[in-house]
Amino acid sequence: MTLALPPRTVFTDEHEAFRSAFRTFLTREALPRRDTWLEAGVIDRDFWRLAAAQGFVAFAAPVEHGGVGVDDFRFNAVIDEEVALLGIGTDAFTLTNDIVGPYFTELTNDEQKARWLPGITSGEQVVAIAMSEPEAGSDLRGIRTTARRDGEHYVLDGAKTFITSGIQADLVVVAAQVDEPGVTGLGLFVVERPMPGFSRGRKLDKLGRLAQDTAELVFESVEVPLSNLLGEAGRGLHAMMGNLAQERLAMAVTAVANARRSLEITLDYVRERRAFGRPVGSFQANRFTLAELATELRVGQVYLDSCIDRHAAGSLAAAEAAGAKFWATELEWKVVDACLQLHGGYGYMTEYEIATRWRDARVQRIYGGTNEIMREIVGRALGL
Ligand SMILES: Cc1cc2nc3c(=O)[nH]c(=O)nc-3n(C[C@H](O)[C@H](O)[C@H](O)COP(=O)(O)OP(=O)(O)OC[C@H]3O[C@@H](n4cnc5c(N)ncnc54)[C@H](O)[C@@H]3O)c2cc1C
Repeated sequence: MTLALPPRTVFTDEHEAFRSAFRTFLTREALPRRDTWLEAGVIDRDFWRLAAAQGFVAFAAPVEHGGVGVDDFRFNAVIDEEVALLGIGTDAFTLTNDIVGPYFTELTNDEQKARWLPGITSGEQVVAIAMSEPEAGSDLRGIRTTARRDGEHYVLDGAKTFITSGIQADLVVVAAQVDEPGVTGLGLFVVERPMPGFSRGRKLDKLGRLAQDTAELVFESVEVPLSNLLGEAGRGLHAMMGNLAQERLAMAVTAVANARRSLEITLDYVRERRAFGRPVGSFQANRFTLAELATELRVGQVYLDSCIDRHAAGSLAAAEAAGAKFWATELEWKVVDACLQLHGGYGYMTEYEIATRWRDARVQRIYGGTNEIMREIVGRALGL
């Protein structure tokens, strides 16, 4: 059954038409490929080019570089929701549109835009962002990868891990400590697939999100031209902090959509499944659980819509995005775990949709900054 939500005023008819087009696209092009992706651990490039040709990839980029020129997070949110509702097990849309895209549209000069954006908007070039390292995840100031200035180049040395789309990526935004007279702090460098010294480490085996590749990356004296520096050397942390708010809001959007669909399929299940002569959903313990989850989801959706609206208008504070991320992903976990339990043993079988939704949800409390770090950000904004 469809869970009735309070009226959603955040989206206009245009967003809903876009939703309908994207849903049709996913149903036609993604669903039939899903099993192959799950086995391969990666989505195929033909699909990505198709998605790009329909305007679903990096659409915020200017029209002259192949984008649609629409910088309105509500469209991003529609895509995130639909991907989560369908449960295709990839982060590629969120990664490209919400997380990495802004680095290429907002931190680039005209020459860089002309060089990179056409490849990204056409789906020819897959992007990734590499901040995390074996010894530095939550604490980005602990990044050890270095970028030593050497004439017209920076020379990058170091290793990254947990990089989403790391295997497929053609353009990787790499955070590195700048080693250059007069500069302190991180810089962001675009490392391109063919650059000598840039290689992939292991493709990592994960618990969930199995259609998504996640990898280690290695940089051994990679000569990166000055023209591949994004923004100012030394201002990388500042740029990342600015963009992480959108990443976190996107995760909250995904969380609530996944929780909603999980609850809907569970409501269907507990009406049909019988024990002791009655549907299992009719036992008071289960009815109360489901009533509470449905109500929390309704409350959560209204708050999330307010965040989406304010982010689209440019007024959502970073700390509020962090709060939305931890609250929504905790709710997601609570919902999917209860829903799996209500499926009994069948819930543990991967042929049941709730099992894949449960395993795909777990990482949401970890990546994009762990929920502990999110609480730190919210706490600091409270002046504590
Ligand atoms: C599937 C997946 C995809 C990812 N994709 C990317 C990507 O594309 N690019 C990228 O750069 N990174 C990516 N990451 C990395 C992710 O952002 C990090 O895993 C995350 O930020 C946590 O860092 P860590 O794993 O080093 O944990 P640690 O920092 O070692 O933390 C370990 C534990 O300590 C806790 N902790 C740390 N500091 C504090 C504190 N101050 N207070 C309280 N608790 C604390 C953490 O919350 C956590 O529970 C991905 C991770 C996964 C799992």
